[in-house]
Amino acid sequence: MADQPFRAPKGTRDILWPDSARWRALVDLFADVAGSAGYLEVIPPMFEHVEVFRRLGEATDVVRKEMYSFEDKGGRTIALRPEQTASVVRAFAEHRPPVPWKAWYAGPNFRYERAQKGRFRQFDQVGVEALGPEDAHLDAEVIALAWRFYQRLGLRRITLLVNSLGSTDDRQRYVAALRAHFEAHLDALSEESRATLDTNPLRVLDSRREADADLVAAAPTMADHLGDDSATHFDQVTDALDALGVPFTVAPRLVRGLDYYVRTTFEFAAEALDAAQNAVGGGGRYDGLAEDLGAPPTPGVGFALGVDRTLLACDAEGVFEAPAAAVDVFVVDATGGNLAVVLTDRIRLAGLRADRSWDDRSMKAQMKAADRSGAALAVIVGDDERDNGTVTVRDLRGDAGQEAVTLDSMIDTLRARLR
Ligand code: AMP
Repeated sequence: MADQPFRAPKGTRDILWPDSARWRALVDLFADVAGSAGYLEVIPPMFEHVEVFRRLGEATDVVRKEMYSFEDKGGRTIALRPEQTASVVRAFAEHRPPVPWKAWYAGPNFRYERAQKGRFRQFDQVGVEALGPEDAHLDAEVIALAWRFYQRLGLRRITLLVNSLGSTDDRQRYVAALRAHFEAHLDALSEESRATLDTNPLRVLDSRREADADLVAAAPTMADHLGDDSATHFDQVTDALDALGVPFTVAPRLVRGLDYYVRTTFEFAAEALDAAQNAVGGGGRYDGLAEDLGAPPTPGVGFALGVDRTLLACDAEGVFEAPAAAVDVFVVDATGGNLAVVLTDRIRLAGLRADRSWDDRSMKAQMKAADRSGAALAVIVGDDERDNGTVTVRDLRGDAGQEAVTLDSMIDTLRARLR
């Protein structure tokens, strides 16, 4: 035996019941919300050829610093996916399903980040991607879907920020203006931001350093550099959100961590969490990505929501509690155990959840296990019951007491009592 128990690697964790049940319930709810709008599940692999993710932009931290990449035994350079949009769009480019193609997904991503509360090296996201239409109403549908999902979870303190990053051309003009602005005040900029300015001027807007605050506040905004098409598109998105009653704030300096976004971008923050980890989800349009990955030019829009952080937000708001007990019925068998084998099986076949205890424990120990299981009812058999062909059904939670019933009516009794 090892001297110390093994531990999960830094930045990863085990999700045990009841957290796992809550996790499952969250994904099921997401599947339901996405399914209600015609999104169907896609399950891409967890690793890809590294080039797929390089398309996200060599200048992004996610690609440059945080990707788990390695050479496999066949000499391929592989990366564990740091996010799923690139994988899903690669799947689209490979299979060319008819458009509009509306897909949802759920699963883990991997980033070599500084591990801390709400920031993991393996973390899960749920998300949707919609490929084909350029329609601004699709952007609004996608944003509203995330909003409705948060509402269904019971979250009330979520804020939505939206912005337009313009078309690729608009963006080039804007980036040039930004660069000029920061370069004119280079001395006042933090050293880190000066380095960022070289590779990715947009990301300087993300700086949370105090030294940069004034310069960032005074920076030109994308809104002043939007072409007519992008401006109209953005107006249509915000009009549709108004019509849907989805509250939002236009955040002219909102940029996102991934380079592929054009036009609409958005982010959800959970006000109940500390600022350091309150980003619970985000997304936007990525009209050039499909073409970059080998498909004919196909616009796309989507979002990803962090499961871990969304559940932290649920904790902070005291909503979306873990489902209660694991089983409905606990079988207590004082006759030596053979009956427990058959009775639990019968109860399970009837569609109820049943468990039992093991290793020939005393009646008292089995009753304790029944209480601990959280089951609502115990089915108890001793020698008398066995000889009479009956079982005793006992209420474990309330004061409904117990009754002896025949084996034939056991299931009906359990069902009636559980209702
Ligand atoms: P991104 O793909 O970076 O736009 O992230 C989308 C969402 O995923 C964020 O809003 C977070 O909720 C979540 N997320 C991103 N990175 C992490 C991480 N390292 N640990 C936990 N959640 C994360």
